[in-house]
Amino acid sequence: MRFVPKFLLSAMSPDHFPDSVRTGDAPEVAFLGRSNVGKSSLINKLLGSKEAKVSSTPGRTRAINFFALHDGTPQKFAARPSLIFADLPGYGYAKISKSISAEWPTFIEPYLNEREQLSLCICLVDSNIPPQESDTMLINALQQMQRPYLVVATKSDRLGGNQLTKSLTALKKAHSVDRILPVSSKTEAGVKTLWPEITNLIQD
Ligand code: GDP
Repeated sequence: MRFVPKFLLSAMSPDHFPDSVRTGDAPEVAFLGRSNVGKSSLINKLLGSKEAKVSSTPGRTRAINFFALHDGTPQKFAARPSLIFADLPGYGYAKISKSISAEWPTFIEPYLNEREQLSLCICLVDSNIPPQESDTMLINALQQMQRPYLVVATKSDRLGGNQLTKSLTALKKAHSVDRILPVSSKTEAGVKTLWPEITNLIQD
């Protein structure tokens, strides 16, 4: 399946989130992670374009950036999107933080709590650093909200096989999750496994 990505909008408050006219009620996938975890690189890899670079332009980093994925080719693509990607602001700037929401714009929590079409949260954690408390807090929050989520360990190319296995074991334990999918935007390792987990959400 080939998609044409279209940037929809940057939202700074819930009343700016795209409505069903713009999203076609397509399933939405949210990408969440600490700043520098490799979120833009992974989204770009998945979209096969530089669309997500918009999130690194000043003023957009604190917003939720929405993209519509249309089935087809740039010459001919479906009018209704098949999927929506929501790129959420990175968290974890502060060295010590008591809660995620203290750092996050106030509309992130309503987004995760209330966004009806939100079908999957992809939580990115860095495989190269020890488990981070802010990631645990986010994953706990999603578990409590009963949101479907998938934890993805980024930058797997930087670790050898044994080191990667060790890192994944530590991350699973710290975040109380059964499964973590290692990915690399550099070598594309794991991206082929991740993609079907996303496209499986599409209902024809
Ligand atoms: P974001 O802040 O989460 O959007 O992170 P970026 O995608 O901008 O990446 C942050 C840094 O990590 C950049 O220097 C990237 O080149 C690097 N990076 C991202 N993904 C990978 C990866 O899979 N492997 C390696 N080795 N570096 C990566």
